[in-house]
Amino acid sequence: MPFYAEQGDECALFAQCHAQQLPLLIKGPTGCGKTRFVEHMAARLGRPLITVSCHDDLSAADLVGRHLIGNGSTVWADGPLTRAVREGAIVYLDEVVEARKDTTVVLHPLADDRRILPIERTGEQLKAPPEFMLVISYNPGYQNLLKGLKPSTRQRFTALTLNYPAPAVERSILEKEGHASPAVAARLVQLAQALRRLTDHDLEETASTRLLVMAARLASAGMGLRQACRAAVVDALSDDLDTVIALDEVVRAVV
Ligand code: ADP
Repeated sequence: MPFYAEQGDECALFAQCHAQQLPLLIKGPTGCGKTRFVEHMAARLGRPLITVSCHDDLSAADLVGRHLIGNGSTVWADGPLTRAVREGAIVYLDEVVEARKDTTVVLHPLADDRRILPIERTGEQLKAPPEFMLVISYNPGYQNLLKGLKPSTRQRFTALTLNYPAPAVERSILEKEGHASPAVAARLVQLAQALRRLTDHDLEETASTRLLVMAARLASAGMGLRQACRAAVVDALSDDLDTVIALDEVVRAVV
């Protein structure tokens, strides 16, 4: 089972939503553990997991399926959402606000108490089995206003907010995932706290748990801790030279 360090009581919430056949919206910054959480819960509940990373070209047909033409005949090919409904899987649509607007047409009837997936092209209406669960995520931070979830979509979902884990939890993640010693894990978490307090830089994102895990791995493989932080955190966060210098000063002050 994928390792997941719980931030609060989100595991119980997820399990309840699954049992009650409720869809779930997970909000939180990039790299705070949303994907890992869903992977962990799918394994715990014994359901297959189908993950779709949404992008601005992703359409309803990409999710539902399409007719493929070959050798003079056409065959229907299920998309990932249809497959998930048929299999009673957990489907995870990552960064759902990126997807094209027409995807809401298929998500809405699946997310409310009808729990059906209309397949327009074949005229089929699939009823989701009780084991099926729809999970979507988005990052409220860097979405512009136009891109936010429509209220009519949002109101169909139970919601969970994740953030970067509390220091003790984050240290345990770095020890387990990054093979860091307790001392290195403590330093990295201290650094993250300092970087997350910086608000006057026009950074789109800040030091995430994911970046700290990468720094911890480089350090545990023998790289100096400052160099590891520079590569995995500072240069990963910004291309702007002044910002890089400012972030690096924080690294040298803390690490
Ligand atoms: P997100 O989906 O929010 O962008 P991920 O779930 O991909 O973030 O997390 C990035 C990485 O950080 C994971 O691969 C894992 O190594 C680590 N991680 C973050 N939070 C946790 C957690 N609570 N438990 C275990 N690992 C975590």
